[in-house]
Amino acid sequence: MQRFPLLTAVIIAALGALATGAAQAAGLERLYILNCGEGIAGDISRWSPGVNIGQSMPFVDNCYLLKHAQGWLLWDTGVPDAIAAMPDGQKPADPKATHWYRPKTLASQLEALGVKPADITFVAVSHTHEDHIGNVELFPLAMLLVQKAEYDWPGPNNTPRFRPEHPVTKLDGDKDVFGDGSVTILATPGHTPGHQSLLVKLPKTGALVLSGDAVHFQANWDNRRVPSNNVDQEQTKASMERIAGILAQEKATLWINHDKAQRDSLIA
Ligand SMILES: [Zn+2]
Repeated sequence: MQRFPLLTAVIIAALGALATGAAQAAGLERLYILNCGEGIAGDISRWSPGVNIGQSMPFVDNCYLLKHAQGWLLWDTGVPDAIAAMPDGQKPADPKATHWYRPKTLASQLEALGVKPADITFVAVSHTHEDHIGNVELFPLAMLLVQKAEYDWPGPNNTPRFRPEHPVTKLDGDKDVFGDGSVTILATPGHTPGHQSLLVKLPKTGALVLSGDAVHFQANWDNRRVPSNNVDQEQTKASMERIAGILAQEKATLWINHDKAQRDSLIA
């Protein structure tokens, strides 16, 4: 006799969770994948120590524009738009790193969508490597969403990571950006001190996690490999396990920022 009320309660709880899930996704309308750079990684063993030494690989660099009822959020800003004017792209100082090209500027892609830089409410960046923050200052009015640990991380020659006058919300962990569960910043440190990823719940596509550089390409994800230049190896592994747990819990797909094969399949 007692099992039935319990079962009923579980079913009602599950239905409640479904209803909440549907309501949560309501504010988020669309996601656009923007081309924020294309490059050739000189030696991918830089990202997978001891594996594929000396092998080069094409990389992409994505930005993602989210349209929410409460405003626009841009996730990452790519390599600087100025690279689009360089016929030979931007060569890295270290030939093992990535030679970046910019087939299209970020500004022109926003213009094509009818979005003005001043329309962007939030700019959230996964971390402060140049291929992710190259165009932050196209949006001087947008609220930056960045982990405090990243913001305070001294840059080269002790320079600040962002212009001090840029509006900023310094985060200390996860953040439900619009308060409805549709867009959630996830603290995933390790690649850099305040690295973050983004959980997005789209009405049709479903749940996604935008990786940032928590992982760079599929083989590294499958084998949980940690790039040699990450600031903290153990944190990186813990963040990958955290993401794996969220993927399972939310039935979400991982979109790996720099993975060209995956990006090409998504665009197609
Ligand atoms: Zn990076």
